Amino acid sequence: MKQLNVGIIGATGMVGQRFALLLHNHPWFRVTVLAASARSAGKRYGDLMETRWLLDEPCPESLKPLVVLDAAADLEKVAGLADFVFCAVDMPKADIRALEEAYAKAECPVISNNSAHRGTPDVPMIIPELNPGHAEVIPAQRKRLGTKRGFVTVKSNCSLQSYVPALFPLAGVQDVLVCTYQAISGAGKTFATWPEIADNVIPFIGGEEEKSEQEPLKIGGTVADGQIIPAAAPRYTAQCLRVPVSDGHMAAVFVRFAPGQKPSKEEILKTWRTFSGEPQTLALPSAPKQFLRYFAEDHLPQTKLQRDLEGGMAVSVGRLREDTQYDYKFVCLSHNTLRGAAGGAVLMAELLCAKGYIDAEH
Ligand code: NAP
Repeated sequence: MKQLNVGIIGATGMVGQRFALLLHNHPWFRVTVLAASARSAGKRYGDLMETRWLLDEPCPESLKPLVVLDAAADLEKVAGLADFVFCAVDMPKADIRALEEAYAKAECPVISNNSAHRGTPDVPMIIPELNPGHAEVIPAQRKRLGTKRGFVTVKSNCSLQSYVPALFPLAGVQDVLVCTYQAISGAGKTFATWPEIADNVIPFIGGEEEKSEQEPLKIGGTVADGQIIPAAAPRYTAQCLRVPVSDGHMAAVFVRFAPGQKPSKEEILKTWRTFSGEPQTLALPSAPKQFLRYFAEDHLPQTKLQRDLEGGMAVSVGRLREDTQYDYKFVCLSHNTLRGAAGGAVLMAELLCAKGYIDAEH
């Protein structure tokens, strides 16, 4: 595969920094341009990151000399330097929708971590192992936008990346009740920037429960007439809590199957053990070898021990057992800024390149 030039929009943020780490040594992608708000524009990335770098691994040396551009004012320049861009910005939704479509219309595909376009029917929301076929709506989206190359795809919310992968391969799921225990990096924070979270649990994350209930239906939806029609089932109900953890979203899941469709515990375990998708078949660079890893020990998975499994791209599952009100209950864990954000977006980009939706323009 010829190396593609990529840009990171929102490169100075928490997710943008993850992109920087994942991409600076990527076998297929080469970071050629970084963008953020007007506040950061015109400054060297290395200078900006001296005080703003949030991750344990240091800022990549190769990216430090790049001068950050203004994502809006310098759009034509950014789009001209990249074959496609990753986008993770903190802006009003209407502004994000407009910015992402402007990049698409400048013939620069956008792989977005933002929620602004998740409800747009011809914008696919892809978890590469689960619904790679949703990329089929891209030609219809290009037609609507009047583009040849440009389009927008989105990642789902990070909360559901923990539990949807485990539920998706099970047939006949009717009702799902889920409680998520979400890390502070999901709010772009660290313990240093959010000391009040120590010894504390916050029972509200704005908009998170609605996303956790609705987005799985789009992921499980079908493609018809150039749009994604959300699935009618299963029914999801969610409570999302912020807990004092740096990285890693845990979910406690209760599941009920349609009458006559309850599988045995052994059947569920076998389904998880043998489940894999196109990223594994295509051996994409960021694909975990074993997407769903079940831990039989009662005290696993633990956030601190398993969140980095397979580079933070595998989902850990444990404690599968029968329930007194639902059919089964279990727990799931995924790394929210890797599989749940930047890593999932990089894997999606690899999938779209492998399937021919993105190619090298430069
Ligand atoms: P963040 O740390 O607050 O970073 C926000 C980024 O947006 C910064 O690079 C900032 O640039 C840029 N920005 C703000 N206003 C802008 C403007 N007008 N034009 C261009 N760039 C602008 O936020 P984050 O946690 O990385 O999250 C970014 C996005 O990813 C959000 O939509 C969030 O919902 C989503 N997301 C986050 C996670 C997670 O785990 N953190 C997971 C999934 C999705 P400046 O530095 O110049 O201000």
